[in-house]
Amino acid sequence: MLDAMFAVAYPQACQSCGNSVERLADGVACGDCWRATKIFSGTEALCAKCGAFLQTEPSNYPTFCHRCDEHFYDAASAVGEYGHALTVSILHLKREPFVAARLKKLFVSRFQTSVFQAVEMIVPVPLSKKRKLERGFNQAAVLSKILADRTKINLDGQSLVRRLDTPMHRVGMDGKARAMSVKNAFEVKRPKLIAGKTILLVDDVFTSGATASGCAEILKQNGAEKVYVLTLAKTL
Ligand SMILES: [Zn+2]
Ligand SMILES: [Zn+2]
Repeated sequence: MLDAMFAVAYPQACQSCGNSVERLADGVACGDCWRATKIFSGTEALCAKCGAFLQTEPSNYPTFCHRCDEHFYDAASAVGEYGHALTVSILHLKREPFVAARLKKLFVSRFQTSVFQAVEMIVPVPLSKKRKLERGFNQAAVLSKILADRTKINLDGQSLVRRLDTPMHRVGMDGKARAMSVKNAFEVKRPKLIAGKTILLVDDVFTSGATASGCAEILKQNGAEKVYVLTLAKTL
């Protein structure tokens, strides 16, 4: 009933393929685009540290991609692979602080089925002041709030800040260049709240892992016990 009213009142085109979106819960992507999106089921073999997709067949022992060996976080997990419905949902979230019910459910369940159950505090990857002013909100904070509301885990959006306005996805930057560009970009404002804590860092996309690693490095320098990372999508 609600969906029918929605389709009449707000006929919405899928931002991925252009067909109409029939369910309010699907957000900006249609059912077909959601079905085409690779959502991690938990049975495929992913890197036990960064969550990179390794193979469809399950593995009986922990597997590693080794590209993430130097990263400072303990483990990272994502809802699925960047593409189709996840891509357009994330692009939409950068424009409007909105997450559709379908994606909310996937995100919360990804956390609940993860090995991150000891988390004591949720920390969004911060935006610089300048970028936050331009956008009006931090998309990572929107995701953090959803998770904190569902799990009742404390949310701390103030202790970790971004100092410099770092270019996020500069084309042609290799892993090392990205790591250098985020080094010293973050700062812990309230180290007392961080010390001894097991922290879940939240962001929309995990690309090279340099941003998450930069945040984890400074959090650990300030005494964080463990740092896990949860994102909506992981790029290939
Ligand atoms: Zn579509
Ligand atoms: Zn890895």
